[in-house]
Amino acid sequence: MLMIKTIPKLAHSGAGRLGGRMPFALAIHGGAGALRPEASTPEIIAATHASLRRALLAGHRVLADGGLALDGVIASVMVLEDDPLFNAGRGSVLTADGGTEMDAAIMEGSERRAGAVAAIAGPRNPVLAARMVMEQSEHVLLIGEGAMRFLRAQGMAMEPDEYFITERRQLVLRTELARRAGGLADRRDDAAKHGTVGAVACDSQGNVAAATSTGGMTAKLPGRVGDTALIGSGTFADNATCAISATGHGEFFIRWAAAHDVSARMRYLGETIGQAAQNVVAGLAVIGGSGGLIAIDSAGNMALPFNSPGMYRGTIGTDGTARTAIWREALAI
Ligand code: ASP
Repeated sequence: MLMIKTIPKLAHSGAGRLGGRMPFALAIHGGAGALRPEASTPEIIAATHASLRRALLAGHRVLADGGLALDGVIASVMVLEDDPLFNAGRGSVLTADGGTEMDAAIMEGSERRAGAVAAIAGPRNPVLAARMVMEQSEHVLLIGEGAMRFLRAQGMAMEPDEYFITERRQLVLRTELARRAGGLADRRDDAAKHGTVGAVACDSQGNVAAATSTGGMTAKLPGRVGDTALIGSGTFADNATCAISATGHGEFFIRWAAAHDVSARMRYLGETIGQAAQNVVAGLAVIGGSGGLIAIDSAGNMALPFNSPGMYRGTIGTDGTARTAIWREALAI
């Protein structure tokens, strides 16, 4: 049978493009490279599921009230940023100098508006800092001291160093620095190396949006910027294709322009969201880029592939049921 691939039109169609109410849905991740089952405890596993669920419900409530996908993903990410279990906001991993430098980005799919921050320390919710850049500046990405000056002037809520620098992350950093000093092989659990939080959603007006937030990678050089803050690498959204939030070894996701590649495969090759997402994650595995991503289109179709042992993740599909998972198990209620 002859297969004719239709190439989706360019988006920029604005909200309400289909007139009626569209289905709404949401997916989240709390980072790829989940803890090995044997290195985990029932308490940590239960707390992780509970936290993922809280984040799902926070975003879903916004969508159920008729809110925008962008507001939904921000609500979900804020819950995960506030939880020290995850590598973002409060639980951010530490740089080689022992400080925090956080990256975050948001993007909405109707006009491809985006905002991002990189290498910032102090804002309680970096995802809100990304929103401030999108809404209150003429730029897409602000970094470091300049970003901090802008955010302070905007009245961004800040926290002291003690809020972000947890004992758990200090221990992981010490262990990693000792390993490097001793010239030992890197046998760390993926979970200790990285993590990140993110959300993608579609709303009742046919829009998609993505938000991603991270502390980056343990013992990274100060000044390092990962894929999270880079539009098209760790975060992307276009109503014509999908919204994507990635997690994994950022350098590979940057080189692969991973998030945009998912969207481009849908647009130019006519791949389904599942095929496009899976192909990108499989391609990353070939070059050694461990991680995964979550993607959603405006009809609520989702994909959550990963090539690491696990990926903290959750969905509330168009049926309204919250489901969470950590390793290769199916998303269970
Ligand atoms: N992608 C993030 C970074 O490289 C880390 C992660 O997602 O685990 O900064």
